[in-house]
Amino acid sequence: MIGSRNPNIFCIDSSGLFWILHFLQKIHVFLLTLKNSVRPKCKFSLALLPSILLRSNLAILNPKFVTDMKAVILLSGGLDSATILYKAKADGYECHAISFDYQQRHRRELQSALTVAQKAGIVKHQVVNFDLRQWGGSALTDDAIDLPQERSLDEMSQNIPVTYVPARNTIFLSFALGYAEAIAAERVYIGVNALDYSGYPDCRPDYIQAMQEVFRLGTKQGREGQPINIVVPLINLKKTEIIQLGNQLGVPWELTWSCYVGGDVACGVCDSCRLRLAAFAELGLVDPLAYAS
Ligand SMILES: [Zn+2]
Repeated sequence: MIGSRNPNIFCIDSSGLFWILHFLQKIHVFLLTLKNSVRPKCKFSLALLPSILLRSNLAILNPKFVTDMKAVILLSGGLDSATILYKAKADGYECHAISFDYQQRHRRELQSALTVAQKAGIVKHQVVNFDLRQWGGSALTDDAIDLPQERSLDEMSQNIPVTYVPARNTIFLSFALGYAEAIAAERVYIGVNALDYSGYPDCRPDYIQAMQEVFRLGTKQGREGQPINIVVPLINLKKTEIIQLGNQLGVPWELTWSCYVGGDVACGVCDSCRLRLAAFAELGLVDPLAYAS
């Protein structure tokens, strides 16, 4: 359960079943990497094998090939963050997910983060607790501010909405940076997207570029010439393209949660639900989540 208030609440156990699944998953990633590594009309050479083993993260089966390719993934439990978790896995990284219980409007998304992390079979999932309700300033951290409902996509694109949480991604990335440096990770994956209609300032390319400089200048690793890189695979993708990418990667949409309201079923009328539903509909796909309306 995710009810614990302590960080470090989740770590995959080492039951036999888990290791069998883990092994099969590694074989799968290995075969994918092998397929991507051998160009058509090009002969496969055994000399390629060590690098393919490393990139497919299969190296852990052999101490000679132990990889240090670690990545921290910001996992909210939503559609975008689940996609980047699966992307980091496909990129061959040992995944360490980090989620935040900041006293947001509901805890439903944290349950989704837990189940998505479990399903992905990652090495570790941390939940960090703090309280942004202390000063509020967002519909997600202050119950006195109403959530927008039933807005058209045009209306959503007019202004930065009240669901913007002041400096949230700067806070999140700071935690992720500390975690990443502590475990000597190479990358931090964050599912920001500049094209959706929210227009959040801390999801834009110039912001990410500036934070990359903070990552370089603000860490020992960065000053010693090996800065932790911020990876933003979704930044220039439309929601429909994110869903297509997630489908290729096998993201379990039914376990994700995007609704701002919370509850047992998604509301279907908040901005986040509307964006998600519109994208699935545009692709002619059915969102497997249950909706109230
Ligand atoms: Zn909703």
